[in-house]
Amino acid sequence: MDYANVIINVKTRQLDQLFTYVIPPELRGNILAGHRVVVPFGKGQFADGLVWSLTTKKPNFSVKSITEKLADDYKLSQTQLYIMQILRKRYAATYQEAYLAVLPSVQKLDKNIVYSVNKPFNNCQDGQFFDRAELLKTYKQAAIDKRVKDGYLTKQVKFNFKHNNKTVEWVKPLYGNVEDALANIAARAVKKRRIIKHMAYLQQLPLRDLTAATRATRRDITALAESGFLAIEQRVENYAVSSYNTTQPKKTIKPLSNDQSKVVGDYIALAKPRAALLIGVTGSGKTRVYIELAKKTIVAGKQVLVLVPEISLTPQLVARFSEQLTTDIGVIHTYIRPTDKVNIYQRIKSGDIKIVIGARSAIFAPFNQLGLIVIDEEHEYSYKSETIPRYKAVELALQLAQKLSIDILLGSATPSIQTHHLVDTGILKAFYLKNAFGPAKLSAIKIIDMTALPKDTLLSLPLIEAMTQCFKRQEQVILFHNRKGYARSKQCHSCGYVHMCQNCAVPLTVYEGGNQFICHYCGYREPQLFKCPSCGDALIDIGFGIEQIKKQLNMVFPDKKFTVVDSDLTHHHTKYIETLTAFKAGDIDGLIGTQILAKGLDFDNVTLVGVIMADQLIHMPDYLSSENAYQLLTQVAGRAGRGTKPGTALIQTYQPEHPIFDYVIKRDFDSFIKEEKEMRDIVGYPPYVTLFTVKIQSESKFAVHEQAQRLYAFYDKNFKRNAIDAQVFQPIQPYYARIRQRYRAQMLFKVKKESRSAVLKMLYYGIVKDKYNLVDPKCWVDIDFDG
Ligand code: ADP
Ligand code: ZN
Repeated sequence: MDYANVIINVKTRQLDQLFTYVIPPELRGNILAGHRVVVPFGKGQFADGLVWSLTTKKPNFSVKSITEKLADDYKLSQTQLYIMQILRKRYAATYQEAYLAVLPSVQKLDKNIVYSVNKPFNNCQDGQFFDRAELLKTYKQAAIDKRVKDGYLTKQVKFNFKHNNKTVEWVKPLYGNVEDALANIAARAVKKRRIIKHMAYLQQLPLRDLTAATRATRRDITALAESGFLAIEQRVENYAVSSYNTTQPKKTIKPLSNDQSKVVGDYIALAKPRAALLIGVTGSGKTRVYIELAKKTIVAGKQVLVLVPEISLTPQLVARFSEQLTTDIGVIHTYIRPTDKVNIYQRIKSGDIKIVIGARSAIFAPFNQLGLIVIDEEHEYSYKSETIPRYKAVELALQLAQKLSIDILLGSATPSIQTHHLVDTGILKAFYLKNAFGPAKLSAIKIIDMTALPKDTLLSLPLIEAMTQCFKRQEQVILFHNRKGYARSKQCHSCGYVHMCQNCAVPLTVYEGGNQFICHYCGYREPQLFKCPSCGDALIDIGFGIEQIKKQLNMVFPDKKFTVVDSDLTHHHTKYIETLTAFKAGDIDGLIGTQILAKGLDFDNVTLVGVIMADQLIHMPDYLSSENAYQLLTQVAGRAGRGTKPGTALIQTYQPEHPIFDYVIKRDFDSFIKEEKEMRDIVGYPPYVTLFTVKIQSESKFAVHEQAQRLYAFYDKNFKRNAIDAQVFQPIQPYYARIRQRYRAQMLFKVKKESRSAVLKMLYYGIVKDKYNLVDPKCWVDIDFDG
């Protein structure tokens, strides 16, 4: 194999192709698909590249040679290469997008310009290297360029890792007998003699500790190393894998319940590669099943990947795995320091780390022996990537598992209808855990009819009464309401003025009882405003958020402590963990939160859950509205009664007759999805069709409109001409027509599964093709997928 087809890390859809390079003789046989290389690209430039495939065929054009191969440590693993293929095929990622997706940010290369000295000048010696930044301290860029022109300096491009492994210098003695060594060192070299004596008793020591202990300088030590008494070694600093290491004492292994054993047994009995969906009611002990299967996989010498919706939300889950396992757990999430990440990736790659728990992007980790993928709470929306490539981790994992013969288990109390459909088509086997674990009983769910109450009632009497009883028993409460902040917006009650964001066509959300305005879309902030800027009359709050509920609760229960929890808090990782810990310890009596509270929290002493306004959930303008409402209500209700004490969930609503409540109360998931599936099949929604949305954005309103019309005409014509079976809908303005100063338009396509790839190709063709290229260079087109 003398030639390599290389992916170049340069961003452009037009250049979505491989580039062929000669493998230099000294690297032949040493370069394989997955190796990272530096290659000449463009005139006098170099680029970071990935070897995609090898070939013996000599291209019929002249090709350049690979400049450098990065160490094998950075070679992509087989799973990563497969994932890149799937990202290309199913999500239409370009080569470069797929490459960047699987490459951990800590392994990305930074391009640096360095200069080597050919002829000495001023203080610059022959053969020395300087960073551009370093030279710029003394010389102007023009002066540097002149030295290059005159042959004093040569300009080179170097690639460095953004976060190199931090190395530490260690010192080792090379002498045998301390007396003999001292005999060879001058008597007045006091510090050197001290170093020799100090090292005689120690096998090895970090250099910085040695200088501290002997009050010697680095120069003394290097002098001793130069005369052969000591060796100085560079070693990679050894970080803990995560805060959950194996040094903690293990709790006793909990035996499986009969139901759990049956699920494990049935799963193991499946034909390989095993693929199943575990439908287990909240609190049924799904986690224990995951742990058991993980153990078996590790014993068989394979690696395990456990995906969770959002790792920062589930510290308890990680803790439970670490109680029951005897190997280090690689935890991957955004809050881990880059240097630690480097270390974790390397240990995953070498197979030293056997189990990884992480959010969706952990699927890109460099596994070489992956044997099992577990996806907890598989219905969660966070498994979908909101950035390009817009993959769904559940789909991606399923495809990867199939391709590389990896076992997979998806788990949820309320599986998504798309995943459940895979049971119908035979791709997944369904397993059930129908009862809560042990003495715990599923919470009783009750509806509170709000129709007779005044319109702005937040807390009904039955809810207040239930809370009073709950607090009397020294138990805790979780209240759910899906709106952050204090109020949805501020409006003028005389002229109708609504206070909007400067950058978005979105009303500003009111925070801190009216002291702050924040835009949820762009983060724009503004201090309070009490008078209408248009007519001078008073502004009033419209729609209430969790802060307002807290305010009312403080009045009703003045001696109880309540804390609000929303996604803003989870971004302050430590503060969030502190809140959960305080709640667990009983220092907080009630949490009031948005939907993040529905995610897998497990508190024994919570016996009451309240849903403040369920109506908000069932009227989302989206085909997923019922599914999401069912999932949320069931999950929230599942937060109560997880310990030995029975729990209750109270749902306040203005539409007690809505059919969804009947399914939720009876926990009749089967009937709910049966009905929902029938409806989607008739109307044409996923999982029965694929939806594509072409999204167009620009700062110019005109350009957005023009671009949308042009693309629409192009697709309409070409779908007909090529007899592609797809429904093309007229471009529309989305609900919020302007976000972050960009106007938006979108176009929907409903596509039969068989036509999925033909349509996708055509959609990209329309965007990339020169003729139909952007109306305005700042116009931005993107494709979203569903199903
Ligand atoms: P799920 O994930 O299905 O909602 P969990 O895995 O959180 O349920 O289990 C619910 C509760 O039951 C947890 O507190 C867990 O510690 C406990 N539990 C589950 N399985 C066992 C077991 N085999 N032995 C002891 N406790 C268990
Ligand atoms: Zn905004």
